[in-house]
Amino acid sequence: VALEVVPETGSTNADLLGRLDSLQGPLLLVAEKQTAGRGRAGRSWLSAPGASLTFSLAWKFNRPLQALTGLPLAVGVSIAQTLQQFDVRVALKWPNDVMKDGKKVAGVLIESAAVERHADGQDPAIWAVIGVGLNLAMPDALEAQIGRPVAAATWLAQLDRNILMAALLNGLTETLQQFERDGFKVFVPRWNALHAYAGQGVAIVDRGAVLHQGIAQGVDAMGRLLLDGSNGRIAVLAGDVSLRID
Ligand code: ATP
Repeated sequence: VALEVVPETGSTNADLLGRLDSLQGPLLLVAEKQTAGRGRAGRSWLSAPGASLTFSLAWKFNRPLQALTGLPLAVGVSIAQTLQQFDVRVALKWPNDVMKDGKKVAGVLIESAAVERHADGQDPAIWAVIGVGLNLAMPDALEAQIGRPVAAATWLAQLDRNILMAALLNGLTETLQQFERDGFKVFVPRWNALHAYAGQGVAIVDRGAVLHQGIAQGVDAMGRLLLDGSNGRIAVLAGDVSLRID
C-alpha cells in the first residue's frame, strides 16, 4: 500500500475519488487536518487537527458492486479489533459507526467506484474509497459544533499516531484481502459479537421518518440488519437509513 500524508485537505475521500484513474494500486491518504470531512448523504464529519485520525484508503476489488454491501461493516469490525489491541473497548452500530460508551467514536464512509471494464466480459473491477475518522480527543468547542454527545478514544491520544495508523492499516489490509476472498459472510459472527444494540428495540429512520421498528438481532451475510417486528423478521439494507434507539 502506498502512503501519503498531507498537512491539510478538504476531504481525503474526495481527493482519492478524484485520483482513481491514475492509481496503480492501493493508496492510503492521511490528512493532519481535514476541513470538509464527509459523512453519508451530504452530512459532515468534523474534526480538530491533532485530535483525530482522518484518512482514506483506495482499494480495488475484483468483485461486482453488489458484493460490497457488507464492506462498511467489515471495516467496522477491523477498526474495533485494532482498537481492542490497544485496550479500547468499542461496539458497532449498524451500519457504519464505531461506538464507545454509547457514543460515536469513529465513523466509516465508503464511496465507490470507478469501474474498469474488462474486454473479455469478466466482472468489472470496482474501486472503493474507504474513509475513516477516529476521535482521539474531543474538545468541547468541537462537540458543541457537532451538536450531540460524541466519544473520543482518549487513551489512544497518548500513543504515537504513526503506531496507531500502522496498526489500523495492517488490520484493514488483512480485512480487505479476506473480504475480497470470502465476502462479508465470514465477518457476520464477529460483527454480531460487537453489536452495540443486540436484542434492543430500535427504529430505522430516513431523514427523521420512521421506516421500521423492532428488536435488532444482528446482521446477515449481506450486511443487512435483521429486525424482529410485529410482522415478523425483516432484513434492512443500509442505503441511507440511520438507526435510533427506540
Ligand atoms: P447517525 O450517526 O445519526 O446514525 P450516520 O451514521 O448516517 O447518522 P454519518 O453520516 O456516518 O452519520 O456521520 C455524520 C454524522 O456524524 C454527522 O451528521 C454528525 O452528527 C456526526 N459527527 C460529525 N463529526 C463527528 C465526530 N468527529 N465524532 C462523532 N460524530 C461526528
